[in-house]
Amino acid sequence: PFDVLVVGGGPAGAAAAVYTARKGVRTGLIAERFGGQVRDTMAIENFISVAETEGPKLAAALEQHVRAYDVEIMTQQRVAHLAPAVPGGLHAVTLESGVTVQAKSVVLAPGARWRQMDVPGEAEYRNKGVAYCPHCDGPLFKGKRVAVVGGGNSGVEAAIDLAGLVTHVTLLEYGEALRADAVLQRKLRSLANVTIITMAQTVAVHGNGRHVTGLTYRDRRDDGTHQIELAGIFVQIGLVPNTEWLDAAVPLTPRGEIETDHRGATPVAGIFAAGDATISPYKQIVIAAGDGAKAALSAFDFLIRLPAG
Ligand code: FAD
Repeated sequence: PFDVLVVGGGPAGAAAAVYTARKGVRTGLIAERFGGQVRDTMAIENFISVAETEGPKLAAALEQHVRAYDVEIMTQQRVAHLAPAVPGGLHAVTLESGVTVQAKSVVLAPGARWRQMDVPGEAEYRNKGVAYCPHCDGPLFKGKRVAVVGGGNSGVEAAIDLAGLVTHVTLLEYGEALRADAVLQRKLRSLANVTIITMAQTVAVHGNGRHVTGLTYRDRRDDGTHQIELAGIFVQIGLVPNTEWLDAAVPLTPRGEIETDHRGATPVAGIFAAGDATISPYKQIVIAAGDGAKAALSAFDFLIRLPAG
């Protein structure tokens, strides 16, 4: 069995594996896709100490760093089930292939995915104007007009954030009213360069082959369609943690995020978690990597306290 089995090969899982391998404990890592969301990113300008890089480049560097250590890497494998140990026993992780892998401790780092609008043009213009992360891509739209799709807390926070960077923000909400906290809504309404449109269903993203030029929305009140010219569209309709397969193995929040304490420990002895799949806020590469290191050190602390033998 492994001393530590890491599930996930994004920044959180990669950091966890490097940290436990450097402690000399037997480490395994299972990932469907090494690099995780980083693989889907173009410009990365906020991974501290690296002024500018690209997703595929950083993903390759993550993999190279893990491979520099004695880590048993299993990629293109999906985990389907986790059976936590009975006291004194081993945790069992079952792959979709049916194979079961056992470990004394587990670091869960399966990440998350942005909910997509699923409209024509969205996938085509991803990273070419269609964006999901205002902290990451906001500065790319300086001096331009953008839309934010979604009027919950994340959409309204994004719109407030972007209004300070770009020329104009149009916020589109599907329902009759914004769903964000009142204090955020007040702040948003106080900004001169923000337009709020409710009952608006985005139906298409337009572009010129190279980048986004606008979007079409349907007014759900009268069924009329309208076009807006823009350079960027921030989709803020939810981040979904990849935790469906965990069933009830560890406690999840109503949104599906893994509950951890400040050391990255779940309430289940020997099971730790890190990154976008957890309650850890702000969902960034540098944060996921830090969380991964922390969960790994906590797993090591757990291991050295296990009875010998
Ligand atoms: P992920 O990167 O999501 O990795 C999850 C890993 O788990 C993957 O290896 C995946 O294959 C694996 N996995 C999931 N489920 C299973 C399973 N059942 N079985 C086996 N393996 C599984 N952040 C920044 O800091 N700067 C940016 O510029 C930036 N830009 C972004 C642009 C885009 C388009 C996107 C989508 C995100 C961006 N982010 C950015 C956010 C950043 O990518 C994430 O916060 C970070 O990747 C989270 O790391 P993670 O390791 O927690 O999860």
